[in-house]
Amino acid sequence: MSAALLVRGGRVLDPDGELHKPPVADVFVEDGRIVALGEAATGAAAQHAGVSVIDAAGMLVVPGFVNAHYHSHDVLLRGLFEQMPLEVWGLFSFPQNYPRRSEAEVRARTLLGAAECLRSGVTTTQDMVTLVGPDRPHVDAIVGAYRDLGIRVVLGLQLGDVAGADTVPFWREELSEADLAQLGVASDPAPMQRLIEELFSRPADPLLTWGLAPSAPQRCSEALLQWTGALARETGAQVFTHVYETRSQALLARLAYGADDQSLIAYLDRMGLLGPSLTVAHGVWIGDAEIERFGAAGANLAFNPMSNLKLMNGVAPIRRYAEAGANLSVGCDNCSGNDAQNIFESMKAFALFWALQGEAGETGAAAEAFRAATLGGARALGLEGEIGAIRPGYRADITLLRLDDPAFVPLNSAVRQLVYAGSPRAVDTVIVEGEVVLAGGRPTEIGPGELDALLGQVQPLLAAEVETVLARNAHLASEVLRIHERIQRAPLEIDRLRIA
Ligand SMILES: [Zn+2]
Repeated sequence: MSAALLVRGGRVLDPDGELHKPPVADVFVEDGRIVALGEAATGAAAQHAGVSVIDAAGMLVVPGFVNAHYHSHDVLLRGLFEQMPLEVWGLFSFPQNYPRRSEAEVRARTLLGAAECLRSGVTTTQDMVTLVGPDRPHVDAIVGAYRDLGIRVVLGLQLGDVAGADTVPFWREELSEADLAQLGVASDPAPMQRLIEELFSRPADPLLTWGLAPSAPQRCSEALLQWTGALARETGAQVFTHVYETRSQALLARLAYGADDQSLIAYLDRMGLLGPSLTVAHGVWIGDAEIERFGAAGANLAFNPMSNLKLMNGVAPIRRYAEAGANLSVGCDNCSGNDAQNIFESMKAFALFWALQGEAGETGAAAEAFRAATLGGARALGLEGEIGAIRPGYRADITLLRLDDPAFVPLNSAVRQLVYAGSPRAVDTVIVEGEVVLAGGRPTEIGPGELDALLGQVQPLLAAEVETVLARNAHLASEVLRIHERIQRAPLEIDRLRIA
C-alpha cells in the first residue's frame, strides 16, 4: 500500500458541498484513508517524505461511485438477449441452467465486469453472485479476481431453496410434469449455509465485505430467511434480496401470502429482515402502504432503472420511497439484462424519473441522483461513514473525471453535467483504498493481455453451450411466455408501467 498520496489541484465535488462550481482543493491520503482536504492537505503533504502526487488540475474529483446492485455470473452473456420477461430471460441466463463453468471462465467474467465498473468510475460494487452448489474453487476464483483488480466489493452468494414452480403464479397448475421437472425441485440449502458460515469466519479483508443474499423472499423457505436474519444480526452483515421486480411477484404476494397481508414486505418483516440492514433491489411493484412500512423501517432500495426497463417491468416509485424515509441507491444489475455496468446511465435515469414523479418547476434531481450513487450507495452496502464522500476519515475511494471531456465544456454546473451529460468516457483515474487502479481510463492491476487470453480460451465453449441452453429451453420459454400473458391480465390494484 502506498503510504501517502496527494491528489493535487482538482475540483472536489462533495454530495453535501458546492455542487455547481466545486472548489479547487488538494486531497491528502495516508494508508488508504483521506486524512486532510484543501490547505490542510497541501500542508500535510509538505511535511511528509515520499508522497506520491497525482496532478488533478483540470479534473473533477468525485467520491468513487457505488454500484448497489450487480451480478457477475452472466457478464459473458451480454448482448445475447433483446427485451423479454424476467422469467423467460432467467431460463436462458441463470447459472443453474448451464454445466459447471471452469475457474478460468469465472475469473474472466469477474474481471471483465469489475473492470467495466472501474471504467465507469465505480469504486465499490455489490455482487449477488450465483454459485451452483457450494463451489469453493469458484468462490476462490471470484475473490481472487476482485483482489487482483483492486476494486472494493460487497459479495453475497445467492441463496434459494424453493422449487422454481412455486415462485411464479400459475406455473404449478399450468405447466406439464416435464416442464415442472425442468424448473427444478426444492433443494437442501445446508451445504451453501455451511460454506457461507465458513466465509464469514475468514480473516477480514479491507476491500472485501461479505453480505447475505437470499435471492428473493418467495425463493427461500422461512427457515432459510430466519437463518439469514440471525447471521446478519450476529455478524452485522448487510442483507441483499430482490423484491417486487415484476408484476408477477406482486400477484404472487396477493395469491400466496395471505397470512402476511398479501405483502412480501410484511413477510420480510415477520422473518426479522426488514430494517436498515436490508437492501432490496428493484422494488417496482410495491404498494403505497408497503412503501410506508419499508421507509419507516429505514430500509434501502437499490434502483435499477435500465434493467427494469429492458426486462419491461416499469419504474420504481423512487420519490415515494424517499418521502417515506427509505434510503436510495442505484445499480446496474446484470450484464445480460441491462446490458452495461454504466453507472452514469443509472444516475441519469434516476434524475429523469425523480423529476417526472415530482412537481414541475422543482430543481435538485441531479443532486439526488449523485447522492444515490455515492452516500446512498454507501449506506445501502453497509459502508456508511466509510465510503461515498471525500472527507477526512473516509476511505480513499476517488474518481477523477476529465473536465475537458465534452460533457463538462463549458463548466456551468458540475453536478448537472455529471448526471445528464457524463459518461465513462470522462473517467480518467480511479483510486481505491489509496491505490491507483485505473489510469488513463485503463485498469492498472491486470494487463489487457491477460483478459484477452482468458476470454479467447473460454468464450468459444460458452458460446456453444448458450446455443444448447436456448434450444433446450425453447419449449418451456414459450409456455412461460403464455402464462406471462395471463399474469399481465390478472387484476392488480397498482400499475408501475405508468411513470408516476
Ligand atoms: Zn438482480
